[in-house]
Amino acid sequence: MIHEKMEKALNAQVNAEYWSAYLYLSMSAWFENINLPGFANWMYMQAQEESSHAIKMFKYIVERGGVVKLQPIDKVETEWEDVITVFEETLAHEQKVTGLINNLMDIAIDIKDHASKSFLQWFIDEQVEEESSVDAIIHQLKMVKNSPHALFMLDKEFAGRVFTPSV
Ligand code: MG
Repeated sequence: MIHEKMEKALNAQVNAEYWSAYLYLSMSAWFENINLPGFANWMYMQAQEESSHAIKMFKYIVERGGVVKLQPIDKVETEWEDVITVFEETLAHEQKVTGLINNLMDIAIDIKDHASKSFLQWFIDEQVEEESSVDAIIHQLKMVKNSPHALFMLDKEFAGRVFTPSV
């Protein structure tokens, strides 16, 4: 049986993962609106990945005999200043999520919940990858400085991103 403290924290994280999905879906809609369908695809895949994180947590809570209680998802932004701002906000958000995952790990360590420690390690590793891939995109965007030609080329590249389910 899962500890009440862990159950509550994981439930909050299910909501946070869905909020992330909602944020990236909103960014995807914005990219569609400014005619960058490849960037829109990248964000759509990102949203799907976040939904899969939520489901991964959902299944784990159930598996450990806990109860999932879904909460309302807060509203997200719908407009951004420019392309790089979107990715800077994405990086800041992912850094925040890393903090949330670290807090979950702290709880697991604190209550000696070894199963949750093992489960959460996947998310710790995942965050390293998330931050690094967004950081790389920011570097690329800084290099090209909103050049329409370069954005067009990046858009072509991002059109190829696919989602590989982890659960
Ligand atoms: Mg996530």
